[in-house]
Amino acid sequence: MLVKFISYFLIIIVSSSACFSSETIFTGDFVQGGIIIGKNKLAKKVFLDGKELKISNNGYFIFGFGRNHNKKSSLKIILNKNNNVKFHYFDIKKSKYKIEKIDGLPKKMITPGPEFYKKIKDDRTLIKNSMKDSYANKIFPLSFIKPSEGRLSGVFGSQRILNGIKKNPHGGMDIAAPIGTPIKATAKGKVILARKGLYYTGNIVIIDHGFDLKSMYIHMNDIHVREGDIVDQGKVIGTIGMTGRVTGPHLHWNIYLNNIKINPELLLSIYK
Ligand SMILES: [Zn+2]
Repeated sequence: MLVKFISYFLIIIVSSSACFSSETIFTGDFVQGGIIIGKNKLAKKVFLDGKELKISNNGYFIFGFGRNHNKKSSLKIILNKNNNVKFHYFDIKKSKYKIEKIDGLPKKMITPGPEFYKKIKDDRTLIKNSMKDSYANKIFPLSFIKPSEGRLSGVFGSQRILNGIKKNPHGGMDIAAPIGTPIKATAKGKVILARKGLYYTGNIVIIDHGFDLKSMYIHMNDIHVREGDIVDQGKVIGTIGMTGRVTGPHLHWNIYLNNIKINPELLLSIYK
């Protein structure tokens, strides 16, 4: 009886200390382009460098660092208990980026003629507006899958020089595979854009995973989803193509966190 009582007592102590622990756990790489999943069961509000993050019911939140993020970052957590405040300070490691030269692209794709200016501007507005949407995912996405099988043909952050002209750095991951190769949703989410024929991106799908995390799939051939669809992780959303500005069939895959592009490779490796 006494033994039983003691063990019961111990269980109460262990479980209550676990419940009320204000410990913060981080998973991920504190590096430029990196993505971090944080958890603090008692978090009421979380701010990264002053910007408020969304928190799941069980205390998860996600944040990341852009290609050229400063050396330092800080996280402020307001706890449920007496509104106590906790600070975490991070040193962000510098990433080294490749320089990639691509020659032989059609001239109109490098410097489009004035007849395309309106189209390009409209496409940009369409993408920007769709990204304003915010899907209230109830389940925090804790795993991410590679959207397509194929050869890694472009990495995050590379400085691209197209036909000798310095362009914006490469913001995503390129997976080269034959036209028609399936493309899958990296995690569950809501399709916020599914359109064909954009000038640069060609056929495009954007999925909102909640928590200000979005994935973008471009240069697609077929699109199998519609705007507003809720897709599960692994759902085939379309196929690899060579629409828009491309030299061959591939998927260009972007990950946005709070509208900042982060490194998709680091997202895939977060729980490995
Ligand atoms: Zn690309």
